[in-house]
Amino acid sequence: MKCPRCSSDDDRVVDSRTSADGVVIRRRRECLECFMRFTTYERIEESPLRVIKKNGERVRFDRDRILHGMLRACEKLPVSMADIEEAVMRVEGRCQGEYDREVPSSVIGSLVMDELRQLDQVAYVRFASVYREFKDVGQFMSELETILDEDVDGLEVPGLAAAAGEAPPSVEPSTRPVDPGHPPDSRDGS
Ligand SMILES: [Zn+2]
Repeated sequence: MKCPRCSSDDDRVVDSRTSADGVVIRRRRECLECFMRFTTYERIEESPLRVIKKNGERVRFDRDRILHGMLRACEKLPVSMADIEEAVMRVEGRCQGEYDREVPSSVIGSLVMDELRQLDQVAYVRFASVYREFKDVGQFMSELETILDEDVDGLEVPGLAAAAGEAPPSVEPSTRPVDPGHPPDSRDGS
């Protein structure tokens, strides 16, 4: 595999993971020339999987979109990148395994929610609040109650208990701007 930095052809595989159903293999590689590490995915190439959107439109299955959605849901939470990548692989694997060529976007959403529910309850609620487009606070609260009912053991959602008892929670994760990382115009040049 050609190194993306120095184009050398020599690399070694440092880690290899297979999705549960064996549909996708992820390999972490290290260039033997410049020691850059990069990731490759190996999957069966048949007809490309397509996604059926709510309006019936078909678009290419885009694993990066799923990854980014999950990363955003897990932002600032104690969830490792490896766990998220494995979750994305399972979602992709299940879509390919259970759907022939076209998978409804609602199925992908449910699969992602299942994965997030396993990874982190806060991430799950964040994603669910965006994905399910809650009409009102009541609907959002009933979703939270469902989670609380299902998963009483080991549930750690800061602020959730308080929110369940009193004033409506601010349903803000979807509207919160992404942290730019560096403040704009921090140099004054003089
Ligand atoms: Zn290299």
